[in-house]
Amino acid sequence: MLLDLQYNEPVFRPPSEGSSLILQATFGCSHNKCAFCGMYKMKEFRVRKFEDFQRDVNIVKQEYPEVRRVFLADGDALAIKTGPLQKILRLLYHSFPRLERVTSYANPSNLLHKSEAELKLLREEGLKILYLGVETGDDDLLRRINKGASRAEIIEAGRKAITAGFELSVTVILGLGGKEGSERNARETATILNEIQPHYFGALTLMLGPFESYFVSEVGGKWVPLERDEFLRELRMLVEGLKIEKDCVFRTNHASNYLALGGTLPRDKEAILETIDYALKNPKILRPDYLRAL
Ligand code: SF4
Repeated sequence: MLLDLQYNEPVFRPPSEGSSLILQATFGCSHNKCAFCGMYKMKEFRVRKFEDFQRDVNIVKQEYPEVRRVFLADGDALAIKTGPLQKILRLLYHSFPRLERVTSYANPSNLLHKSEAELKLLREEGLKILYLGVETGDDDLLRRINKGASRAEIIEAGRKAITAGFELSVTVILGLGGKEGSERNARETATILNEIQPHYFGALTLMLGPFESYFVSEVGGKWVPLERDEFLRELRMLVEGLKIEKDCVFRTNHASNYLALGGTLPRDKEAILETIDYALKNPKILRPDYLRAL
């Protein structure tokens, strides 16, 4: 049944939220300046009016009161001030008695602007998983892509989320450094992940489409995109450099990737490396370019 929800499109969600109810608590991204990202360029960031959010919740609860998972869109619902976000979480758990988790995207600045006590409060109110775009561990590259946070700030933000009790899911982007910066991107990204020790880690493959010339002008230098095998070699170097201590679910199931991998680190590290080596020798198993999409 189609419900009359007021979505402000486009709406994005992480791959793992495919079976979740998506509700917009904000529109756009409070940062909206990353050079590789066109997701919210057409939207001005704002927090949605609580009454409008509540209207959508009321519509869903009439038809699907058994909702178990909610993903709060858009780009960083954690930008909402703690009090109003607490109100949203209470509304959701009150409206859906079987609700098990609420999740959202977060950016480093959201996490750094909230105190540890505020983050713990939100966690206790049922916000359980935060999806944080790390993108790269290369400090210089972070500045050139306008991430809005340094390597040290991203590490601090990620650790702060974990200390507050959140499950932290991070994504990185293969190919951001181009040919010249590929090795450095892999090496520095592995070490930033080692410092954060996330619970989930996903790698995406850079796809710029119409944003390529803007990206190249922002990043500067002699940036040249990677070829398919170079993406795989960068992924291999990254995985090789990982020193994950506790179970971390690793996935490359995003539609942008040439090779869909999955496993739990550190246990499956060798198997993952062997699969990448196999793929490099047997490119027939790779996803063709025309099937890659964002
Ligand atoms: S913070 Fe995330 S959503 Fe916002 S511009 Fe950067 S990549 Fe895009």
